[in-house]
Amino acid sequence: MKPKVIFGPAGRPIDYKGTAYKACGYIADEGLMAYEYQAGRGLRIGEKSASILKEDSIAEDITVSLHAPYYINLSAVEEKKLALSVETLVKAAQAGEWMGAYKIVFHPGYYSKNDPSEALTIAKGGINTLFERLDEEGISEYTFAPETTGKRSQLGNIDEIIDMCSNFDNFEPTIDFAHIHARGRGYIQKKEDYNCIFSKLENNLDIDRLHCHFTYIEYTKAGERRHHTLEESDYGPNLKWLLESFVENDWKATIICESPLLDKDALEMKELYETLL
Ligand SMILES: [Zn+2]
Repeated sequence: MKPKVIFGPAGRPIDYKGTAYKACGYIADEGLMAYEYQAGRGLRIGEKSASILKEDSIAEDITVSLHAPYYINLSAVEEKKLALSVETLVKAAQAGEWMGAYKIVFHPGYYSKNDPSEALTIAKGGINTLFERLDEEGISEYTFAPETTGKRSQLGNIDEIIDMCSNFDNFEPTIDFAHIHARGRGYIQKKEDYNCIFSKLENNLDIDRLHCHFTYIEYTKAGERRHHTLEESDYGPNLKWLLESFVENDWKATIICESPLLDKDALEMKELYETLL
């Protein structure tokens, strides 16, 4: 049986020299059980490569997620940009289906000149169009996972993410704890602050395995600035409190490590987690 909390890198492991879609064996050999395939700069993977990734992930027992392009903006004011964002999510869902991704992670968008509630309404309209387009394309195996975003100019505080996920089927959150911390200018100051996030999720959504991102982070007034390694422990949010909260609340979670050391820090996280069991 899978451990309750599993760990893996956001993208190709640091010392891995092969192609990204063949990385599952390497990741499994390291002792990790998750892999977030990065398509942040564009979706280039074809059906054949994605199918290899899927087969390998099954053979190696790796839970795969797909990070969709950063340029997606479901709250775009311009129709053209909104339509492009919807089509990009359709393509991401297609690639995700090919690679057997259990979640398609994406950043919902920007407020631009709108106030937050207007931006959220535009995004919801975009999601309705997205479902129509997926139906037309015959794509049926997908779970979108909008991510809590790290900048105050971005749609995607935790309440907005919960709102999206409670209003649409096949939508579950990606909780990026570093983003929540940075956006809140140091939101996580004590262990109870994590419990506050968990209570919100528990009260509003029905989640089997919570998809998460974690790294230490530096922030400014506007939100996130830079990711830091686990060695740079002057930065937060606190990792041990998070892992303790998972254990105490008996949560199942996938934690994708977004520190500059990716798989190496994912292993550190896993080691710390195992000392808490
Ligand atoms: Zn992200």
